Amino acid sequence: MGGWAVVACGAVLLTAPLFVAYVWICLRTYGGSLVAPLDGLVADPPRALRGLLAAAPRPTAAGFAIFGVWYLLQAALMLVLPGRAALGAITPAGHRLAYRVNGALAWLVTHVALGLAVFRWHWFRPTLVYEHWGGLFVAANVAGLLVAIAAYGKAHWAPTHADDLKFSGNALYDFFAGIELNPRIGRFDLKLFHIGRVGMVAWTVVNVSCAAQQYETLGRVTTSMLLVNVLQAVYVFDLFWREDWYVRTIDIQHDRFGFYLAWGSVAWLPFMYTLPAAYLAAHPVDLSPAAAGAILALGLAGYAIFLSANRQRDRFRRAGAHRYRIGGRDATFVPARYVSDDGQVHDTRLLTSGWWGLSRHPNYIGDVMMAVAFSLPCGVTHVLPYFYALYLPALLVHRALRDEARCRAKYGSAWDVYRAVVPARIVPGVW
Ligand code: NDP
Repeated sequence: MGGWAVVACGAVLLTAPLFVAYVWICLRTYGGSLVAPLDGLVADPPRALRGLLAAAPRPTAAGFAIFGVWYLLQAALMLVLPGRAALGAITPAGHRLAYRVNGALAWLVTHVALGLAVFRWHWFRPTLVYEHWGGLFVAANVAGLLVAIAAYGKAHWAPTHADDLKFSGNALYDFFAGIELNPRIGRFDLKLFHIGRVGMVAWTVVNVSCAAQQYETLGRVTTSMLLVNVLQAVYVFDLFWREDWYVRTIDIQHDRFGFYLAWGSVAWLPFMYTLPAAYLAAHPVDLSPAAAGAILALGLAGYAIFLSANRQRDRFRRAGAHRYRIGGRDATFVPARYVSDDGQVHDTRLLTSGWWGLSRHPNYIGDVMMAVAFSLPCGVTHVLPYFYALYLPALLVHRALRDEARCRAKYGSAWDVYRAVVPARIVPGVW
């Protein structure tokens, strides 16, 4: 493991939680400006630091209680709700894991239950999450760290598949990137649970709470807030609706479960991906019908590309060695072969038609178009609500590079042939 990679992991471990807290302070105390707290730091550092500390999120009993109930509720729903059986991809050691995919039902039950708890039983206000954001932030960070520590310990002392562990030789890097591929307690999959339940279900719940907050302060919900809620709900629900596809994506198939995914799904995702709605809750924006229509069209066009590209690849792969047609024609492909760690030889195919004939990661294009559509409703006054739209391309570029290095190692010369047939990495003619 290179020294720079270890230093970078250490830096992310230390600074990422502080960065999220800083963004929260900017949003709540400095009117959404990312630089306003820094202005004060230059003029009068002690005073500005005192101001930052005074505005920082604090641990609260309510924050821990709400987070605890949320976590247990999601675990219970994942355990008890019925669902279809799905198979993951073959792991490097040759295992093929079975999943019960009940994410769509868990998402629906969660939202209906919260609706009943708010409007029928009056247990709490619809703005509960928004009001307890600071306490929830601290609770989510503590939980993300504890889960990462538990994942590290489990990999050493009670791994689910001892032959699927990956040690880098550096403890800090292992803690950050993870060691176990698919840690489980019995049939309970820890990775799918944290990303696909604790984090992803929270996304839309947080957004609705922000819309409720806007309604309380403004007396109405703006078109911009509706757009953010609807577009992001489409994106989130899509993942649950096609959860059997999700268990064969890089997150579940290749990434190990460490701080990056544990803290990332429990603390980073619910706070950073919801910034447009959180921003609009305090800074309402009224869009003209034409602007709203254009943003909706961009978001839906992105979704159509995202959906169709992911579907083509997944259906093609599921067809195995059988014929698969795209646009009325037989799909073209590059045959590839690889050997799993258990010595088994597997034959597979790399799709080169449809979206996959244009670029080696066409699904990322649709994803970025949607990310831009999530932020545009916030207007152009502040950068803060554009965080996701700026962060996602960086994440996907890094992901594409990582994925291609792994695929080259896995498929050897077949990957080179594929690259020659489909030269564009993401955007045809650009990269
Ligand atoms: P993909 O679902 O695109 O999977 C990449 C894998 O697909 C490769 O590792 C390879 O796996 C296989 N593959 C690559 N090329 C081909 C081909 N031509 N034909 C057949 N199989 C191929 O990647 P991701 O998991 O990164 O993305 C899934 C979706 O999730 C994307 O739409 C992405 O935009 C989205 N995403 C969203 C994020 C967010 O935070 N919002 C974060 C990350 C992803 P194998 O070893 O099986 O060959």
